[in-house]
Amino acid sequence: MGVFEAIGTESHEEVLFSADREIGLQTIIAIHNTSLGPALGGTRFYPYADEEAALRDVLRLSKGMTLKSAAAGLDLGGGKAVIIGDPATIRSERLIRAYGRVVDSLGGRYVTAADVGTTTDDMVLIAKETPWVSGLPFSEGGSGDPSPATARGVMASFRAIGERLWGSADLAGRRIAIQGVGKVGMDLARRLTEVGAETVVTDANADSMTHAVETYGSTEVSVDEIYDVACDIFSPCALGATLNEATIPRLRCLAIAGCANNQLAFDSDIKRIVERGILYAPDFVVNAGGVINIAAETGGYSAERAGAMVDRIHDNLIAVFKTAESDGVNTHDAAVRFAQRRIDQVGDLRYRKPRREK
Ligand code: NAD
Repeated sequence: MGVFEAIGTESHEEVLFSADREIGLQTIIAIHNTSLGPALGGTRFYPYADEEAALRDVLRLSKGMTLKSAAAGLDLGGGKAVIIGDPATIRSERLIRAYGRVVDSLGGRYVTAADVGTTTDDMVLIAKETPWVSGLPFSEGGSGDPSPATARGVMASFRAIGERLWGSADLAGRRIAIQGVGKVGMDLARRLTEVGAETVVTDANADSMTHAVETYGSTEVSVDEIYDVACDIFSPCALGATLNEATIPRLRCLAIAGCANNQLAFDSDIKRIVERGILYAPDFVVNAGGVINIAAETGGYSAERAGAMVDRIHDNLIAVFKTAESDGVNTHDAAVRFAQRRIDQVGDLRYRKPRREK
C-alpha cells in the first residue's frame, strides 16, 4: 500500500515521518483530526516487524483517538505516535528528547502521552523539549498513571448497563468476568469487590491472578475458560480482538464492557454479538477514562474534578444506547455516529488555538 493511499483512506490530516540515524530514532506521528482541538494520543514504542506495520498501527490508533475524545465530550482531536524499535535495547535520554523535538515541531497540533512501551518518566524527558506533552507524574504537576481513571470509567459503564438491563446501577451480587487483571483490570477487581460484586478473573500472568484471588476474593479460571464463564458482564481488559468468530458463540454473559482497545476482531463481529442478544458497550466509549483524566490537566489537575468528568462516561454510554435505538443500528455503529455527530456539529464552530503557551 502506498503512503498517500494509506493516509487518504481514513482522511488523516497529516502524517509526519522523522528519523535520526545516529541514535536510531524512527518515528511516525499521525494527526487524524483536529476539528475539536489538538490531536491527543500516546506514543507507542514497539519493535514493529516493518515500517508498513508501524504506519498501519499509527493510522488506526489515531483515528480511534478521534472517536474516543469526541464521544467523551472532550475538546480534543485524535492523534497517535509510534517509535519503531525495542525500548529495552534502544531507549536513551537522547532518543526520547530527540523525539520530543519532533513533537515540538508540530507546534501543538499533536499532544503526546504515555502508551505501550513509554512511561511517565519518558514524558518528563519529553517535557524538557516541548510543552505539548501530557500525563506527567503527580510530582511534576501532572495527572499520573491514567489506569485508575480508566477503571473508574469502566465502573461508570457497568452502572449504565445495569440501569439498562436490570433497572438498577447497583452492582452488588452481580458477577463480572475480567479478562486480564493488569493495571486497569486489577483496579476494576478492587472497585467491584468494594461494591459487593463477584469477580471471576483470568490472566496470562499467574502472579496477577493469585493477587486478585488473595486480595479481592476473585475466582480464577484459565485464559481459555474465561469465555465460558456464566456472568452478568464479560469485561475484556487484556488485548484487542478477543471478541471474534471463535469466542463470541461461547460467551454466557448479558453484556460486554471492558477497557481493552479494539475488542472486536472485525467491525462485522458486532453482528454476532447482536445475534446472541448480548448488549455491547463500545470500547472507545467505555475506556475513555484515561484520556479524560489527561484532559483534566488543562487548567490545573484536580483528582476530584477529573473523577467527576470520568463518571460522565455513564451518560455518554446511555446516549449511545439511545442513539442505537433511535437510529435502529447496533451499539458499535451508534457510538461512531454519536462521536461523528459531535465532530460535525461542534468541530467547525471556530478555529481553536493550541491550548498551551510555550
Ligand atoms: P496491562 O499490560 O497492565 O494489563 C494487561 C494484562 O493482560 C496483563 O496482566 C497481561 O498479563 C494480561 N494478558 C495478556 N494477554 C492475556 C491473555 N491472552 N489473556 C488474559 N490476560 C492476558 O495493561 P492495562 O494498562 O491494564 O490495559 C489493558 C488494556 O486496556 C490494553 O488493551 C490497553 O490498551 C487498554 N487501555 C488501557 C488504558 C489505561 O489507562 N491503562 C486506557 C485505555 C485502554
